[in-house]
Amino acid sequence: MPQSHRIAVLPGDGIGPEVMDEALKILDAVSRQHGFNVERETFLVGGAAIDATGGPLPADTVKGCEAAEAILFGSVGGPKWESLPPDIQPERGALLPLRKHFGLYANLRPGVCHPNLTHASPVKNELIPNGFNVLCVRELTGGVYFGQPKGREERNGEPVAFDTMIYAKSEIVRIAKVAFEAAMGRDKRLCSVDKANVLATSVLWRETVTEVAKDYPEVTLSHLYVDNAAMQLVRRPDSFDVLVTENLFGDILSDEMAMISGSLGMLPSASLGKSTDGGLNFGLYEPSGGSAPDIAGQGIANPIAQILSLSMLLRYSLGQATAAEAIDAAVEKAIAAGFRTGDIFTGAPGETKVGTSAMGDAILENLPS
Ligand code: NAD
Repeated sequence: MPQSHRIAVLPGDGIGPEVMDEALKILDAVSRQHGFNVERETFLVGGAAIDATGGPLPADTVKGCEAAEAILFGSVGGPKWESLPPDIQPERGALLPLRKHFGLYANLRPGVCHPNLTHASPVKNELIPNGFNVLCVRELTGGVYFGQPKGREERNGEPVAFDTMIYAKSEIVRIAKVAFEAAMGRDKRLCSVDKANVLATSVLWRETVTEVAKDYPEVTLSHLYVDNAAMQLVRRPDSFDVLVTENLFGDILSDEMAMISGSLGMLPSASLGKSTDGGLNFGLYEPSGGSAPDIAGQGIANPIAQILSLSMLLRYSLGQATAAEAIDAAVEKAIAAGFRTGDIFTGAPGETKVGTSAMGDAILENLPS
């Protein structure tokens, strides 16, 4: 009996449905080639859901996601819905509640610059002759964004404002484990980023990550202060394999990493939740970019971020690592063969400018049959 999986598909708005079509095309092919089934059901989310039901996250969508092993998410939002009250706007009203509902505490964002696309990176090309491939693991539900108390009051005749940076050891242990597991599947190097020279939370962070490392003797662990990590990322991004850090530092470093990678249209992300019995995670997988209303409906969006989001879903939630590797390799080959959507096209010799669907086809053709 072939293994059977179930996923919820939430294409959303703007370029979401266009790039999702390409990812599903790839899913059909890899599931056939690797002998497993993926039952999938599509649900409304974001602006499309507001138009159809009055709200950005209908109960049916949440129910459908609860019944699935993972969510493949497109992107949400656009000018049409920007004047709505904040709480029912597509991003705030759909993505944040989904993250909360499913307890998605680990955010994984690869920052990849392909060797053939180093010109798109603002990092000096002589520093990254072979591109780079870094994975940033960010704690997503703790730290200063959520710590209590937070607020604003009058003290000594002037307003003061305060936030609380707090981490429980168990929160650090679970994110560290995600990072070590990820490193085990890569080059087995993990750099933990903190500010242990100043912050008490960072001292606990460093102690705990060092303790968890004992369970992963094959992984080489290093530590960097966040200010140094920010510098090293632009100086030698290729020196990193996996980074792990707390919420605020991860927010900033993962955006820095996206920027130095070149194109937003190439970067997937995963937000992982509680472990299932098999040690795998429920997750929401989506491109790092948004709904790109400026190019939506034109058939020119880059589908690679969505296709690599599918690859992450297969690897982290469905345990289909071989199929995920096949997708990653097919993307590399399509790029090496010169296929470029507009966002990564430079007109250099050997490049062929293609639209969304033709890029999907080029990746499909490069899957090992
Ligand atoms: P954006 O990421 O949508 O677009 C920024 C730029 O990158 C645009 O020029 C766009 O054309 C380009 N781009 C993004 N993805 C691309 C792709 N796959 N192929 C080619 N080019 C691509 O960010 P924005 O313009 O700030 O936001 C647009 C809308 O998306 C807003 O409504 C915002 O709220 C929403 N948004 C949603 C998410 C999400 O769903 N997770 C994330 C960010 C922004």
